[in-house]
Amino acid sequence: MNRLRKLTILADAAKYDASCASSGSVKRDSSGGRGVGSTTGMGICHSYAPDGRCISLLKLLLTNFCIYECSYCINRASSNVQRARFSVEEVVDLTLDFYKRNYIEGLFLSSGIIRSADYTMEQLVRVARCLRETHDFRGYIHLKTIPDASPALIEQAGLYADRLSINIELPSVHSLARFAPEKSLLTIRKSMGQVREHIDEAKESRHRRRRRRAAASTFHYSPAGQSTQMIVGADDSTDSDILSLSHNLYRTYDMRRVYYSAFSPIPDAAQTLPARPPPLLREHRLYQADWLLRFYGFGIGEIVETDRSGTGMLDLDVDPKLAWALRHRDLFPVNVNRAPLETLLRVPGIGAIGAGRIVQARQFSSLRFKDLAKCGLSTGKIAPFVETADHHPSLTVLEDQDLKQRFMRGASPQLTLFS
Ligand code: SF4
Repeated sequence: MNRLRKLTILADAAKYDASCASSGSVKRDSSGGRGVGSTTGMGICHSYAPDGRCISLLKLLLTNFCIYECSYCINRASSNVQRARFSVEEVVDLTLDFYKRNYIEGLFLSSGIIRSADYTMEQLVRVARCLRETHDFRGYIHLKTIPDASPALIEQAGLYADRLSINIELPSVHSLARFAPEKSLLTIRKSMGQVREHIDEAKESRHRRRRRRAAASTFHYSPAGQSTQMIVGADDSTDSDILSLSHNLYRTYDMRRVYYSAFSPIPDAAQTLPARPPPLLREHRLYQADWLLRFYGFGIGEIVETDRSGTGMLDLDVDPKLAWALRHRDLFPVNVNRAPLETLLRVPGIGAIGAGRIVQARQFSSLRFKDLAKCGLSTGKIAPFVETADHHPSLTVLEDQDLKQRFMRGASPQLTLFS
Protein backbone atom coordinates (compact mmCIF):
# COMPACT_ATOMS: atom_id res chain seq x y z
CA MET A 1 0.00 0.00 0.00
CA ASN A 2 1.45 3.38 -0.89
CA ARG A 3 2.06 6.12 1.64
CA LEU A 4 -0.74 8.35 0.44
CA ARG A 5 -3.30 5.57 0.83
CA LYS A 6 -2.02 4.82 4.33
CA LEU A 7 -2.21 8.48 5.16
CA THR A 8 -5.81 8.66 3.99
CA ILE A 9 -6.80 5.66 6.12
CA LEU A 10 -4.86 6.51 9.24
CA ALA A 11 -5.61 10.22 9.30
CA ASP A 12 -9.30 9.41 8.88
CA ALA A 13 -9.13 6.81 11.66
CA ALA A 14 -7.62 9.37 14.02
CA LYS A 15 -10.47 11.84 13.63
CA TYR A 16 -12.46 10.22 16.44
CA ASP A 17 -9.96 11.40 19.01
CA ALA A 18 -10.89 14.88 20.19
CA SER A 19 -7.91 15.49 22.42
CA CYS A 20 -5.77 17.24 19.85
CA ALA A 21 -5.47 20.66 21.43
CA SER A 22 -2.33 22.09 22.90
CA SER A 23 -2.01 24.52 25.71
CA GLY A 24 0.65 25.85 27.95
CA SER A 25 3.54 24.10 26.26
CA VAL A 26 7.04 25.20 27.13
CA LYS A 27 9.10 26.09 24.11
CA ARG A 28 12.02 23.74 23.76
CA ASP A 29 15.43 25.32 23.92
CA SER A 30 16.41 26.62 20.52
CA SER A 31 19.30 28.87 21.38
CA GLY A 32 21.04 30.01 18.28
CA GLY A 33 17.96 29.29 16.26
CA ARG A 34 18.93 25.65 15.93
CA GLY A 35 16.60 22.72 15.55
CA VAL A 36 13.82 21.92 13.16
CA GLY A 37 10.57 23.39 14.38
CA SER A 38 12.26 25.74 16.80
CA THR A 39 9.75 28.35 17.85
CA THR A 40 12.21 31.11 18.48
CA GLY A 41 14.97 30.89 15.96
CA MET A 42 13.17 29.95 12.76
CA GLY A 43 10.84 32.91 12.39
CA ILE A 44 7.85 30.76 13.13
CA CYS A 45 5.26 32.06 15.49
CA HIS A 46 3.41 29.61 17.63
CA SER A 47 0.39 30.44 19.66
CA TYR A 48 -0.07 28.42 22.84
CA ALA A 49 -3.54 29.29 23.97
CA PRO A 50 -4.17 28.62 27.64
CA ASP A 51 -7.76 27.75 26.75
CA GLY A 52 -6.55 24.68 24.87
CA ARG A 53 -7.65 25.64 21.36
CA CYS A 54 -6.32 23.45 18.57
CA ILE A 55 -3.17 24.27 16.73
CA SER A 56 -2.45 22.60 13.41
CA LEU A 57 -1.10 19.16 14.02
CA LEU A 58 -0.56 16.15 11.83
CA LYS A 59 -3.06 13.86 13.49
CA LEU A 60 -2.45 10.19 12.79
CA LEU A 61 -2.75 6.67 14.00
CA LEU A 62 0.40 4.64 13.68
CA THR A 63 -1.95 1.82 12.78
CA ASN A 64 -5.64 1.06 12.91
CA PHE A 65 -5.01 -2.63 13.49
CA CYS A 66 -6.10 -3.41 17.01
CA ILE A 67 -6.35 -6.52 19.13
CA TYR A 68 -8.88 -4.94 21.52
CA GLU A 69 -12.63 -5.06 21.09
CA CYS A 70 -14.00 -1.72 22.32
CA SER A 71 -17.51 -1.87 20.92
CA TYR A 72 -17.80 1.91 20.29
CA CYS A 73 -14.64 1.97 18.14
CA ILE A 74 -14.45 1.65 14.39
CA ASN A 75 -10.98 0.09 14.69
CA ARG A 76 -11.92 -2.71 17.08
CA ALA A 77 -10.53 -6.16 16.22
CA SER A 78 -13.78 -7.43 14.67
CA SER A 79 -14.46 -4.32 12.59
CA ASN A 80 -14.53 -4.65 8.86
CA VAL A 81 -12.51 -1.53 8.04
CA GLN A 82 -9.55 -1.37 5.74
CA ARG A 83 -6.38 -1.58 7.82
CA ALA A 84 -3.05 0.12 7.37
CA ARG A 85 0.14 0.58 9.30
CA PHE A 86 2.92 3.11 9.14
CA SER A 87 6.47 2.30 10.07
CA VAL A 88 8.20 4.55 12.59
CA GLU A 89 10.34 6.01 9.81
CA GLU A 90 7.30 6.81 7.68
CA VAL A 91 5.65 8.83 10.46
CA VAL A 92 8.92 10.67 11.12
CA ASP A 93 9.36 11.50 7.43
CA LEU A 94 5.76 12.65 7.05
CA THR A 95 5.97 14.87 10.10
CA LEU A 96 9.17 16.53 8.93
CA ASP A 97 7.89 16.86 5.41
CA PHE A 98 4.60 18.45 6.47
CA TYR A 99 6.35 20.63 8.96
CA LYS A 100 8.84 21.96 6.43
CA ARG A 101 6.00 22.77 4.07
CA ASN A 102 4.42 24.75 6.88
CA TYR A 103 1.28 22.60 6.90
CA ILE A 104 1.57 21.70 10.56
CA GLU A 105 3.05 22.83 13.82
CA GLY A 106 3.42 19.41 15.32
CA LEU A 107 2.30 15.82 15.57
CA PHE A 108 -0.55 14.08 17.36
CA LEU A 109 0.10 10.36 17.34
CA SER A 110 -2.09 7.56 18.59
CA SER A 111 -2.42 3.91 17.70
CA GLY A 112 -4.49 0.78 17.87
CA ILE A 113 -2.97 -1.91 20.05
CA ILE A 114 -0.65 -4.10 17.99
CA ARG A 115 0.68 -7.28 19.57
CA SER A 116 0.74 -5.84 23.08
CA ALA A 117 0.49 -2.58 24.96
CA ASP A 118 4.26 -2.46 25.48
CA TYR A 119 5.08 -3.15 21.85
CA THR A 120 2.69 -0.39 20.71
CA MET A 121 3.97 2.13 23.23
CA GLU A 122 7.53 1.33 22.23
CA GLN A 123 6.70 2.20 18.61
CA LEU A 124 5.10 5.51 19.62
CA VAL A 125 8.09 6.41 21.76
CA ARG A 126 10.45 5.54 18.92
CA VAL A 127 8.71 8.05 16.66
CA ALA A 128 9.02 10.82 19.23
CA ARG A 129 12.61 9.95 20.11
CA CYS A 130 13.66 9.81 16.48
CA LEU A 131 12.08 13.21 15.80
CA ARG A 132 13.71 14.81 18.83
CA GLU A 133 17.10 13.11 18.88
CA THR A 134 17.87 12.28 15.28
CA HIS A 135 16.15 15.24 13.61
CA ASP A 136 16.31 17.79 16.41
CA PHE A 137 12.60 18.44 15.97
CA ARG A 138 11.37 21.25 18.25
CA GLY A 139 7.75 21.27 17.17
CA TYR A 140 4.86 20.08 19.27
CA ILE A 141 4.36 16.37 19.94
CA HIS A 142 1.28 14.91 21.57
CA LEU A 143 1.49 11.17 22.25
CA LYS A 144 -1.46 9.06 23.13
CA THR A 145 -0.38 6.77 25.93
CA ILE A 146 -1.36 3.14 26.23
CA PRO A 147 -2.47 2.70 29.85
CA ASP A 148 -1.32 -0.92 30.10
CA ALA A 149 2.21 -0.09 28.94
CA SER A 150 5.07 -0.49 31.36
CA PRO A 151 5.93 2.45 33.63
CA ALA A 152 9.38 2.69 32.01
CA LEU A 153 7.83 3.31 28.59
CA ILE A 154 5.37 5.86 29.93
CA GLU A 155 8.29 7.60 31.59
CA GLN A 156 10.21 7.76 28.31
CA ALA A 157 7.19 9.03 26.39
CA GLY A 158 6.98 12.13 28.58
CA LEU A 159 10.61 12.98 28.00
CA TYR A 160 9.98 13.45 24.29
CA ALA A 161 6.35 14.56 24.13
CA ASP A 162 4.95 17.98 24.96
CA ARG A 163 1.72 16.40 26.05
CA LEU A 164 0.60 12.92 26.99
CA SER A 165 -2.97 11.77 27.05
CA ILE A 166 -4.60 8.65 28.35
CA ASN A 167 -8.25 8.31 27.45
CA ILE A 168 -10.61 7.57 30.31
CA GLU A 169 -13.08 6.55 27.56
CA LEU A 170 -16.32 6.14 29.52
CA PRO A 171 -17.66 7.77 32.65
CA SER A 172 -18.18 4.64 34.76
CA VAL A 173 -16.48 1.35 35.64
CA HIS A 174 -19.67 -0.41 34.68
CA SER A 175 -19.74 1.14 31.18
CA LEU A 176 -16.08 0.44 30.62
CA ALA A 177 -16.55 -3.22 31.53
CA ARG A 178 -19.51 -3.37 29.19
CA PHE A 179 -18.10 -1.58 26.16
CA ALA A 180 -14.31 -1.90 26.50
CA PRO A 181 -13.76 -5.20 28.32
CA GLU A 182 -9.96 -5.23 27.92
CA LYS A 183 -9.60 -1.84 29.57
CA SER A 184 -9.49 -1.23 33.29
CA LEU A 185 -10.26 2.01 35.05
CA LEU A 186 -7.75 1.10 37.72
CA THR A 187 -4.93 0.77 35.18
CA ILE A 188 -5.95 3.98 33.42
CA ARG A 189 -5.91 5.87 36.70
CA LYS A 190 -2.61 4.31 37.73
CA SER A 191 -0.99 5.51 34.51
CA MET A 192 -2.47 8.98 34.93
CA GLY A 193 -1.05 9.04 38.48
CA GLN A 194 2.33 8.03 37.17
CA VAL A 195 2.32 10.79 34.55
CA ARG A 196 1.36 13.33 37.18
CA GLU A 197 4.20 12.21 39.45
CA HIS A 198 6.75 12.67 36.67
CA ILE A 199 5.37 16.09 35.76
CA ASP A 200 5.53 17.19 39.42
CA GLU A 201 9.07 15.85 39.77
CA ALA A 202 10.22 17.79 36.71
CA LYS A 203 8.60 20.98 38.02
CA GLU A 204 10.15 20.49 41.44
CA SER A 205 13.58 19.91 39.93
CA ARG A 206 13.32 23.17 37.96
CA HIS A 207 12.19 25.07 41.08
CA ARG A 208 15.09 23.70 43.09
CA ARG A 209 17.57 24.80 40.46
CA ARG A 210 15.99 28.23 40.28
CA ARG A 211 16.18 28.58 44.06
CA ARG A 212 19.86 27.69 43.97
CA ARG A 213 20.25 30.05 41.02
CA ALA A 214 21.80 27.13 39.13
CA ALA A 215 21.69 26.99 35.34
CA ALA A 216 18.20 26.37 34.09
CA SER A 217 17.24 22.72 34.16
CA THR A 218 16.46 21.12 30.86
CA PHE A 219 14.47 18.40 32.58
CA HIS A 220 10.99 18.72 31.14
CA TYR A 221 8.43 16.00 31.38
CA SER A 222 5.34 16.43 29.25
CA PRO A 223 5.52 20.23 29.71
CA ALA A 224 2.02 20.78 28.35
CA GLY A 225 0.67 18.35 30.95
CA GLN A 226 -1.74 15.52 30.39
CA SER A 227 -5.24 15.36 29.04
CA THR A 228 -7.95 12.78 28.54
CA GLN A 229 -11.06 12.15 26.53
CA MET A 230 -14.48 10.86 27.52
CA ILE A 231 -17.06 9.56 25.10
CA VAL A 232 -20.45 11.11 25.70
CA GLY A 233 -23.73 9.45 24.84
CA ALA A 234 -22.54 5.87 24.32
CA ASP A 235 -23.87 4.86 27.72
CA ASP A 236 -26.55 6.19 30.01
CA SER A 237 -24.27 8.31 32.21
CA THR A 238 -25.75 11.69 33.01
CA ASP A 239 -24.03 15.04 32.60
CA SER A 240 -23.75 15.12 36.36
CA ASP A 241 -21.85 11.77 36.33
CA ILE A 242 -19.57 13.05 33.58
CA LEU A 243 -18.81 16.37 35.26
CA SER A 244 -18.22 14.71 38.63
CA LEU A 245 -15.65 12.41 37.06
CA SER A 246 -14.00 15.33 35.24
CA HIS A 247 -13.85 17.32 38.45
CA ASN A 248 -12.15 14.39 40.14
CA LEU A 249 -9.67 13.96 37.26
CA TYR A 250 -8.72 17.64 37.28
CA ARG A 251 -8.06 17.55 41.00
CA THR A 252 -6.39 14.15 41.30
CA TYR A 253 -4.18 14.20 38.22
CA ASP A 254 -3.88 17.89 37.51
CA MET A 255 -5.41 17.29 34.07
CA ARG A 256 -4.88 20.14 31.65
CA ARG A 257 -8.07 19.26 29.80
CA VAL A 258 -10.84 16.73 29.75
CA TYR A 259 -12.24 16.48 26.23
CA TYR A 260 -15.80 15.41 25.60
CA SER A 261 -16.44 13.54 22.43
CA ALA A 262 -20.00 12.88 21.34
CA PHE A 263 -20.43 9.22 20.50
CA SER A 264 -20.79 8.65 16.77
CA PRO A 265 -22.52 5.46 15.65
CA ILE A 266 -20.31 3.10 13.68
CA PRO A 267 -21.18 0.41 11.13
CA ASP A 268 -22.07 -3.03 12.52
CA ALA A 269 -22.21 -1.66 16.01
CA ALA A 270 -23.23 -3.72 19.02
CA GLN A 271 -26.96 -3.70 19.80
CA THR A 272 -26.19 -2.28 23.21
CA LEU A 273 -24.94 0.97 21.68
CA PRO A 274 -27.37 3.73 20.76
CA ALA A 275 -28.34 3.90 17.10
CA ARG A 276 -28.19 7.70 17.09
CA PRO A 277 -25.55 10.13 18.27
CA PRO A 278 -26.36 12.43 21.18
CA PRO A 279 -27.11 16.04 20.21
CA LEU A 280 -23.84 17.83 19.48
CA LEU A 281 -25.11 20.60 21.70
CA ARG A 282 -24.69 18.27 24.66
CA GLU A 283 -20.94 18.14 24.03
CA HIS A 284 -20.88 21.93 23.80
CA ARG A 285 -22.82 22.37 27.06
CA LEU A 286 -20.43 20.01 28.82
CA TYR A 287 -17.48 22.14 27.72
CA GLN A 288 -19.26 25.25 28.99
CA ALA A 289 -20.02 23.57 32.32
CA ASP A 290 -16.45 22.30 32.57
CA TRP A 291 -15.25 25.90 32.15
CA LEU A 292 -17.56 27.12 34.90
CA LEU A 293 -16.23 24.46 37.27
CA ARG A 294 -12.61 25.25 36.62
CA PHE A 295 -12.52 29.01 36.24
CA TYR A 296 -15.72 30.52 37.59
CA GLY A 297 -15.98 28.98 41.03
CA PHE A 298 -19.16 26.99 40.42
CA GLY A 299 -19.80 23.65 42.11
CA ILE A 300 -21.26 20.66 40.25
CA GLY A 301 -24.44 20.78 42.33
CA GLU A 302 -25.02 24.36 41.16
CA ILE A 303 -24.57 23.58 37.49
CA VAL A 304 -26.58 20.37 37.34
CA GLU A 305 -29.29 20.28 39.94
CA THR A 306 -29.83 16.57 40.31
CA ASP A 307 -32.06 16.86 43.36
CA ARG A 308 -34.46 19.38 41.85
CA SER A 309 -34.91 18.25 38.24
CA GLY A 310 -33.90 14.67 38.95
CA THR A 311 -32.41 14.25 35.45
CA GLY A 312 -28.81 15.19 36.16
CA MET A 313 -28.68 16.67 32.66
CA LEU A 314 -27.68 20.15 31.51
CA ASP A 315 -30.31 22.33 29.92
CA LEU A 316 -29.68 22.24 26.17
CA ASP A 317 -31.73 25.38 25.53
CA VAL A 318 -29.48 27.86 27.29
CA ASP A 319 -25.88 27.86 28.47
CA PRO A 320 -25.23 26.51 31.99
CA LYS A 321 -24.44 29.91 33.52
CA LEU A 322 -27.63 31.45 32.21
CA ALA A 323 -29.56 28.35 33.32
CA TRP A 324 -28.13 28.78 36.83
CA ALA A 325 -28.97 32.50 36.89
CA LEU A 326 -32.54 31.79 35.79
CA ARG A 327 -32.88 29.31 38.65
CA HIS A 328 -31.50 31.89 41.11
CA ARG A 329 -33.18 35.09 40.05
CA ASP A 330 -33.32 36.22 43.67
CA LEU A 331 -29.53 36.81 43.53
CA PHE A 332 -29.91 39.43 40.80
CA PRO A 333 -29.52 42.20 39.78
CA VAL A 334 -25.86 42.45 40.71
CA ASN A 335 -24.50 45.93 41.24
CA VAL A 336 -21.42 46.09 39.01
CA ASN A 337 -20.02 49.04 40.92
CA ARG A 338 -19.88 47.16 44.20
CA ALA A 339 -19.97 43.41 43.60
CA PRO A 340 -16.79 41.40 44.25
CA LEU A 341 -15.08 39.77 41.29
CA GLU A 342 -16.42 36.29 42.11
CA THR A 343 -19.99 37.60 42.00
CA LEU A 344 -19.40 39.39 38.70
CA LEU A 345 -18.13 36.11 37.26
CA ARG A 346 -21.53 34.56 37.96
CA VAL A 347 -23.43 37.06 35.85
CA PRO A 348 -24.51 35.63 32.47
CA GLY A 349 -22.62 37.42 29.72
CA ILE A 350 -19.73 38.50 31.95
CA GLY A 351 -16.61 36.44 31.38
CA ALA A 352 -13.23 36.60 33.10
CA ILE A 353 -11.94 39.35 30.80
CA GLY A 354 -15.12 41.45 31.11
CA ALA A 355 -15.16 41.08 34.89
CA GLY A 356 -11.52 42.18 35.08
CA ARG A 357 -12.26 45.24 32.96
CA ILE A 358 -15.21 46.20 35.16
CA VAL A 359 -13.09 45.94 38.30
CA GLN A 360 -10.45 48.14 36.73
CA ALA A 361 -12.80 50.70 35.24
CA ARG A 362 -14.86 51.21 38.40
CA GLN A 363 -11.76 52.36 40.30
CA PHE A 364 -11.98 55.65 38.41
CA SER A 365 -15.70 56.35 38.25
CA SER A 366 -19.07 54.87 38.95
CA LEU A 367 -19.99 52.79 35.87
CA ARG A 368 -22.99 53.65 33.73
CA PHE A 369 -24.75 51.13 31.53
CA LYS A 370 -23.05 52.30 28.34
CA ASP A 371 -19.67 51.80 30.03
CA LEU A 372 -20.36 48.06 30.08
CA ALA A 373 -20.33 47.99 26.29
CA LYS A 374 -16.93 49.70 26.44
CA CYS A 375 -15.80 46.80 28.63
CA GLY A 376 -16.63 44.55 25.68
CA LEU A 377 -19.85 43.12 27.16
CA SER A 378 -23.02 42.29 25.31
CA THR A 379 -25.48 44.63 26.99
CA GLY A 380 -28.44 42.70 25.59
CA LYS A 381 -27.52 39.59 27.54
CA ILE A 382 -26.45 41.17 30.80
CA ALA A 383 -29.18 43.83 31.04
CA PRO A 384 -31.63 41.85 33.20
CA PHE A 385 -28.92 40.79 35.61
CA VAL A 386 -26.94 43.96 36.37
CA GLU A 387 -27.43 47.28 38.02
CA THR A 388 -25.36 50.37 37.23
CA ALA A 389 -25.50 54.02 38.27
CA ASP A 390 -28.19 54.65 35.64
CA HIS A 391 -29.70 51.21 35.03
CA HIS A 392 -32.04 49.51 37.48
CA PRO A 393 -33.89 46.57 35.94
CA SER A 394 -37.28 46.11 37.46
CA LEU A 395 -37.82 42.97 39.49
CA THR A 396 -40.81 42.04 37.36
CA VAL A 397 -38.42 41.58 34.46
CA LEU A 398 -36.35 39.08 36.38
CA GLU A 399 -39.47 37.31 37.53
CA ASP A 400 -40.89 37.14 34.01
CA GLN A 401 -41.36 33.44 33.17
CA ASP A 402 -40.77 34.29 29.51
CA LEU A 403 -37.24 35.50 30.15
CA LYS A 404 -35.70 32.16 29.21
CA GLN A 405 -37.74 32.04 25.99
CA ARG A 406 -36.56 35.51 25.11
CA PHE A 407 -32.95 34.43 25.43
CA MET A 408 -33.64 31.28 23.44
CA ARG A 409 -35.13 33.36 20.65
CA GLY A 410 -32.07 35.56 20.75
CA ALA A 411 -34.22 38.60 21.47
CA SER A 412 -32.60 41.51 23.23
CA PRO A 413 -34.62 41.95 26.41
CA GLN A 414 -32.86 45.21 27.06
CA LEU A 415 -34.74 47.06 24.33
CA THR A 416 -38.18 46.02 25.37
CA LEU A 417 -37.94 45.61 29.08
CA PHE A 418 -35.62 48.11 30.67
CA SER A 419 -35.49 51.75 31.42
S1 SF4 B 1 -7.97 0.06 22.05
FE1 SF4 B 1 -10.17 0.19 21.78
S2 SF4 B 1 -10.53 2.37 21.32
FE2 SF4 B 1 -8.34 1.98 20.99
S3 SF4 B 1 -8.16 1.48 18.83
FE3 SF4 B 1 -8.39 -0.45 19.91
S4 SF4 B 1 -10.57 -0.88 19.86
FE4 SF4 B 1 -10.31 1.29 19.36
